[in-house]
Amino acid sequence: MKIGIMGGTFDPIHYGHLILAETAYDRFNMDKVLIMPAGDPYFKADRGVSADEDRAEMVKLAIQGNPHFEFSDLELAREGDTYTVDTLTILREQYPSDDLYLIVGSDTLFQMEKWYKPQEIFNLAKILSSSRNIEVSELNDQMDYLRKKFSAKIVNLYMPNIDISSTDIRDKVKHGMSVRYFLPDSVIDYIHEKGLYHQ
Ligand code: ATP
Ligand code: MG
Repeated sequence: MKIGIMGGTFDPIHYGHLILAETAYDRFNMDKVLIMPAGDPYFKADRGVSADEDRAEMVKLAIQGNPHFEFSDLELAREGDTYTVDTLTILREQYPSDDLYLIVGSDTLFQMEKWYKPQEIFNLAKILSSSRNIEVSELNDQMDYLRKKFSAKIVNLYMPNIDISSTDIRDKVKHGMSVRYFLPDSVIDYIHEKGLYHQ
């Protein structure tokens, strides 16, 4: 099987994430893409991240009706810091002879080297990266750098640049601005029902 792993804080999940995951699914004839909210985003500790249950619920609402996607609580269910290398190791045990693809936006490609045990991550999974507000040449340079340094297998997933971020959505909600068409209506309704990001 070919299994995609789309991780993120998803605070909230939006169409940038969904288009990226769907593009990967389609381009590589995947069997499924796991949509996996990050457990303890230690690198985002400086701002209050929404409750795990809310981020999980928003993901479930967003992917409802798309059989290509599967919600995964593999990271949420673990206590303490959750590292991508541990997640991939668990998946590798579950799927010993399958292809694992880690799906990321290009900003993540510039952070991965500083993640815990990067070499093991690159050994365990192929990386699919989309460009996100970046020149193609700059992205290619970074991919080449990681290929050389870690023998990483990285592929550029061409998709239109979707200039949407969770930060921008949180900001808009806080200021009472519309976020319609940035993310699914079901998620917007949930945000308002729960009063998320309103202050
Ligand atoms: P925040 O603004 O809170 O950082 P975000 O929009 O960057 O949120 P994350 O949950 O941090 O969303 O992102 C999860 C993954 O999805 C990352 O690999 C990120 O690069 C990728 N991603 C997020 N938004 C986009 C987008 N608009 N286009 C392509 N990739 C994206
Ligand atoms: Mg981000």
